[in-house]
Amino acid sequence: MSNVLVLVDHTAGVVRKTTAELLTIARRLGEPVAVFIGDNASEALPALGQYGATKVIALTNPELSQYLVSPKAEALQQVAAKIEPSVILISSNAEGKEIAARLAVKLESGLITDAVDVQEGPVTTQSVFAGNYTVKSKITKGTAIITVKPNAATPEAAETSPEVEEFDVTISDAAKTARITESKPRAATGRPELTEAAIIVSGGRGTGGDFGPVEAFADSLGAAVGASRAAVDSGWYPHAYQVGQTGKTVSPQLYVAAGISGAIQHRAGMQTSKTIVAINKDNEAPIFELVDFGVVGDLHKVLPAATEEVTKR
Ligand code: FAD
Repeated sequence: MSNVLVLVDHTAGVVRKTTAELLTIARRLGEPVAVFIGDNASEALPALGQYGATKVIALTNPELSQYLVSPKAEALQQVAAKIEPSVILISSNAEGKEIAARLAVKLESGLITDAVDVQEGPVTTQSVFAGNYTVKSKITKGTAIITVKPNAATPEAAETSPEVEEFDVTISDAAKTARITESKPRAATGRPELTEAAIIVSGGRGTGGDFGPVEAFADSLGAAVGASRAAVDSGWYPHAYQVGQTGKTVSPQLYVAAGISGAIQHRAGMQTSKTIVAINKDNEAPIFELVDFGVVGDLHKVLPAATEEVTKR
């Protein structure tokens, strides 16, 4: 079986759920080999073994965390030369996509970004043109490099006992172009990260600026909070939580849109969600064309009632 390289997405050794999803996909395609950048690979080992990594290659060169992006692409090029993977899977976040693009140039390989599914082949599924088309594609040149969106697969455990193998890479001066001078975690909300969350409750202009009911309902479900651009532009919620064409693209199991009309630019960021629920007081709001369940009503009444019901259970 050919090797499938998975770049581990983690924070200080704590592996993100997206990596479990990538490993689950990797097992459909070959032998998953995890590449861990940082010096705490041993902390990540149980999580990587739980989802079937057969080996963990640890890259501990300090330049990899001191500089943005380019050294990581150089390092992955060297790992690829060593293990000759048929596929490289990377999380579809801003850094992951940039690493993937640079790596594709270095390996002269085809690249597919933002896959919402990857099956044997590998054949990928993507949503394109603001979500108006779904396409299936296959890379025909070199090592298939694919960035995969969060929630593209349900993590399936497959216990292995991988060993950590340290691998020393050489980082050129040319790659040391952008040094990280400060790194601060965002103030913790206690909620899941928007692009990784299984459930998202989003509020729009219909909230009238009061996100209290949206946040309370999200918390009752253990969900993340999102916002439409109208809510963000009004200064009601930070831009980091905007869903849509000029915000984040999300694909949760459940997306609840409260007081959001369903403009095409908002849909572009959420219409691949598995189940969509809308609460809107206008029964002709375009969002209702898209939903699995719709509630016509005032979100300030519907959301507290739903929160109470969920909290009771
Ligand atoms: P509105 O369209 O004003 O809708 C508010 C809805 O709330 C209405 O349907 C109304 O019936 C309902 N409502 C009002 N009161 C209540 C209540 N009490 N209870 C229940 N329902 C209520 N938008 C995005 O969201 N994300 C983007 O990334 C984005 N990018 C854009 C990029 C470009 C280039 C452009 C031109 C636009 C972009 N937009 C984006 C803006 C987009 O076109 C819409 O203007 C925006 O999505 C509207 O937000 P909204 O649905 O919250 O507000």
